[in-house]
Amino acid sequence: MSLCDLTAHELHKLFSSGEASATEIAEAHLERIEAIEQEVRAYVTVTRDRLLEAAAAADKARQSGEVIGPLTGIPMAIKDNIVTQGVKTTCASRILENFIPPYNATVVDRLYNAGGCLVGKANMDEFAMGSSCEHSHFGPTHNPWDTGRVPGGSSGGSAAAVAAGEAVFALGSDTGGSIRQPASFCGVVGMKPTYGRVSRYGLVAFASSLDQIGPFTRDITDCALVLNAICGHDPRDTTSASEPVPDFTESLVPDICGMRLGVPREYFEEGLSKGVREAVNSAIELLAEMGATVEECSLPHTRYALSTYYLIAPAEASSNLARYDGVRYGYRASGARDFVDMYKKTRYEGFGPEVRRRIMLGTYALSAGYYDAYYLKALKVRTLICKDFDNAFDKFDALVTPTAPTVAFSLGEKAADPLSMYLSDICTIPVNLAGLPALSVTCGFNEGMPVGLQLIGPHFAEGTLLRLGYALEQSTDFHRRRPPLTKTQEWDRNMEEAPDNAV
Ligand code: GLN
Repeated sequence: MSLCDLTAHELHKLFSSGEASATEIAEAHLERIEAIEQEVRAYVTVTRDRLLEAAAAADKARQSGEVIGPLTGIPMAIKDNIVTQGVKTTCASRILENFIPPYNATVVDRLYNAGGCLVGKANMDEFAMGSSCEHSHFGPTHNPWDTGRVPGGSSGGSAAAVAAGEAVFALGSDTGGSIRQPASFCGVVGMKPTYGRVSRYGLVAFASSLDQIGPFTRDITDCALVLNAICGHDPRDTTSASEPVPDFTESLVPDICGMRLGVPREYFEEGLSKGVREAVNSAIELLAEMGATVEECSLPHTRYALSTYYLIAPAEASSNLARYDGVRYGYRASGARDFVDMYKKTRYEGFGPEVRRRIMLGTYALSAGYYDAYYLKALKVRTLICKDFDNAFDKFDALVTPTAPTVAFSLGEKAADPLSMYLSDICTIPVNLAGLPALSVTCGFNEGMPVGLQLIGPHFAEGTLLRLGYALEQSTDFHRRRPPLTKTQEWDRNMEEAPDNAV
């Protein structure tokens, strides 16, 4: 194993005891990027110099006897829709291709304060609209387990970077599954926290009532550590919750005896692949063997979730994206006849086809005469979906489902058919509509590709999900597997030449 294949808590041990410096850790990651980024393309921007500077500062802090936190000196990737002062934040869009934000998102400030070192900005579907990372203006990211497949989306770059050892952890955003589905496709842990748990200040808005920032990590312990750093009230986000934040590492106990788990039957219907079904079912059996009670249940309005989401999310997007008009910042088209022509040209040239499709869908749903029939109705159905979950949580501590109906699909497979792409979020979307926390953890492999298990909890029950994920991790070794891509000959040779870096 190299320094790039370890978790944050493992690296912290080496760093705090002086066995590995932050600079060595940073350099190992840059070498890994050098070796495989051509094939993976997880990043829009790699901030090499910043990383080395931050690592040197972490080394200095350690040498001068300062208290070292669990994330000090740890390389991290940030999705390119989370603003970073002085570092380009493009949303993988032409319209923001050269945008350099003048401030940091709250989560970025919090991670910098915790000692995290920025490796770069991760690729994504343009404005977080998509499930495959193929809608990026900069070209797709490839799945490190099989570069002919997608890494999932929209936070595909974040997931691929963590899976491939190009960052120890990453942040993504999840509006309808964009953390959990790529986590599942790339075999890493992904958590969408409760709506309001993590500040959205500095997250470029897609659908504000659904968006939430969360971590990608290599195991559950790291997930708890990153949550500790990013959760908590922020006066700069009006939807931020003032709920107290526990120390999430206290949930890392392998005992799940007596926990009540519900298995909603609507998540196991047609469209679910055999391989995913088998892996998920064996994880459920494992949880039962460990002492949880497992019972089938029903969330009857699940079948309306996708259509509800595809009214609400585009409606909010059409309003949020109105600000990109070529006037104050971002791309502006040239050769316009007049003001209105400039708007039209700028938005046509600046946005890719999927973003334009969403803006049109959303504008239609909000327009006079259709508002009640579409948008208002979708809001009512959203309430019914929330009630399904409320009823289930009267009886259960958590719900267990697949994260996605299939393993990662091939690049190009769904590109021409938006509807089939939308279907890959069928298991994750209801959770965003209800604002609940959910975790994706690897529960098996099929066709050589990772399969994700989704654990859904009541509001603010992230701890319960971590406890279940941790228990699963204790009796499986899926989280220790690394994609074949990271074991390239070139890398092995590097490791032989640099035995000091080897662990
Ligand atoms: N794939 C979904 C969409 O395209 C969800 C995206 C997300 O969570 N950002 O809307």
